[in-house]
Amino acid sequence: MGSYKCCHCEHETDSVHLITFFQGKQERDELVCDTCYADWLEGLKVEP
Ligand SMILES: [Zn+2]
Repeated sequence: MGSYKCCHCEHETDSVHLITFFQGKQERDELVCDTCYADWLEGLKVEP
């Protein structure tokens, strides 16, 4: 059983990563699972 719940896909996971979203001028921290973290990193690579 996971100890945390991913903010993104809502799966339970033992291993979470803290990521920061920027919405306009606001920052939002979220805890996500390995898969979503990998996706997020991929997204960062694409951004200019
Ligand atoms: Zn996730």
